[in-house]
Amino acid sequence: MELEFSSDAQLHLIFRGADLAFVNAIRRIIMADLLIPAIDKVYIFENTSILHDEILANRLSMIPLKGGENLVPPDKCNCGGKGCPQCEAILSLEVEASENFTIVYSNKLKSEGSVYPVSENIPIVKLNAGQKISLEAHARLGKGRDHAKWQPVSVCVIKYQPVISINEKCDVCGICLERCPKKILEVKNKKLIVTSIWKCSLCKVCEEVCPNSAINVSYNDNVLQLTIETTGSRSNEELLIMACEYLINKCEELKESINSAIGVISHGKENITN
Ligand code: SF4
Ligand code: SF4
Ligand SMILES: [Zn+2]
Repeated sequence: MELEFSSDAQLHLIFRGADLAFVNAIRRIIMADLLIPAIDKVYIFENTSILHDEILANRLSMIPLKGGENLVPPDKCNCGGKGCPQCEAILSLEVEASENFTIVYSNKLKSEGSVYPVSENIPIVKLNAGQKISLEAHARLGKGRDHAKWQPVSVCVIKYQPVISINEKCDVCGICLERCPKKILEVKNKKLIVTSIWKCSLCKVCEEVCPNSAINVSYNDNVLQLTIETTGSRSNEELLIMACEYLINKCEELKESINSAIGVISHGKENITN
């Protein structure tokens, strides 16, 4: 297995010779099993906006949050999950509009703990003059498998490496260049070339429009690309490390269970022989 990193807002990891099931396990853990903070309870003291309390609470819960590394998961907390300073971080929102069409952004959410919005520019609600909101939001750690608000990524996908072959029947007519939706085909030195193979979506449009059957699109299932795009709660690299640690812990748990099961079986056999 060989890894290649490339980073912008997204992280692209290229696995050579890795099993699809293994890479997919990492992908599924990132989407479903990592603990990150999100608003889970909202106490609304006053809301004269056009949004119902439930919709307002739902909008708040979907704001990606940073921090919360010191929080204890509610199911492991001494409070038994009822909520306490160990498992919850508080954010408050106090706004009253002085003019019509006032947009309330996430920068108005004041953090009273270790958790705060990833971005200051997420619109929450629009208020008219005199409308008011007063609330307290409690953020907790949770997993994407329980609610999308705890999913730490907006993109987490696997793709096989595209393979594009161009044969000698190509007369460089340029039709496929025009029709390729990703604009990754180019003519260089009177030859058709592919500029960025990983951008190919395997749509096969080039194949369909070619009058000479000169281009063929397939994929290499021995080379996989995992793409991760974080919502900002943790960095792409942190998510990847967290997923690896989660997988290692699960394998350790499985190993211990197998060992104790083997112990029980051999103990049973000893009893029978005795
Ligand atoms: S459409 Fe066919 S012949 Fe024309 S440039 Fe593309 S591959 Fe070559
Ligand atoms: S398969 Fe689609 S994206 Fe890939 S080169 Fe052909 S037209 Fe472009
Ligand atoms: Zn608690």
